[in-house]
Amino acid sequence: MQENLEKPVLNTLNKEYKRERTFSFMENIYLPEIFKALWYTLKQMFAPKFTMLYPEEKWEPPAIFRGRPVLVEDEGQERCVSCGLCARACPPLAISMQANENSDDPKERYPEWFEINMLRCIYCGYCEEVCPEEAIVMSKDYDIVFESREEAVYDKERLLVPKEDLKDRLDYLKNYRNRQFGQFWDFQEENNIHSVRDRDRTWNTGLSLVDMLEQQKKNDATEASSKWT
Ligand code: SF4
Ligand code: SF4
Repeated sequence: MQENLEKPVLNTLNKEYKRERTFSFMENIYLPEIFKALWYTLKQMFAPKFTMLYPEEKWEPPAIFRGRPVLVEDEGQERCVSCGLCARACPPLAISMQANENSDDPKERYPEWFEINMLRCIYCGYCEEVCPEEAIVMSKDYDIVFESREEAVYDKERLLVPKEDLKDRLDYLKNYRNRQFGQFWDFQEENNIHSVRDRDRTWNTGLSLVDMLEQQKKNDATEASSKWT
């Protein structure tokens, strides 16, 4: 050990250290290297540009892009049934809501208020993954600005986006989400109350959701006219 310490140490402060490479005269005056760098810069000035003049020009992300999470508005109403799964799955606990019930609507449960704290959101998409109603999805919106902590908490009004504006993402989810797990995990539209409206559109009964529910109640209460004996 002692012997090793007495050996000269190879570093630039040590007089016995030899440089691995010696510079030529041209390298020592730096000028050719400076002109090379200027030439490179000049070439780049005429190269094709990939930058955009944001915010005048905006990038349109593809459907796979995970922008800010939004609530899907289906025919003027949120799809969300306030089950709380998204809040449970959210790693930074960014989602909070209060469930309420409306017995006049077959959907029954709805979020009285629903908030996402965008200061916490990490755009992981877990909320979208777990939602059984396809009620919360990742949008293409990356243009998120707020000036205070309060403004960063998005309420239901700011979160709701009509499903027509989210068509790209909804189609993407239909085609690619959880395919590896098979049909069981797919979004089943017939299990969603909004499909009642779709069915009504197909059958053209002209009944509102409330009327349909009333009709169902009457049918359930009516005695059968004939008895199976
Ligand atoms: S994207 Fe992730 S972090 Fe953001 S609200 Fe959804 S689950 Fe939470
Ligand atoms: S998981 Fe879907 S339905 Fe359940 S509370 Fe979240 S957004 Fe609403």
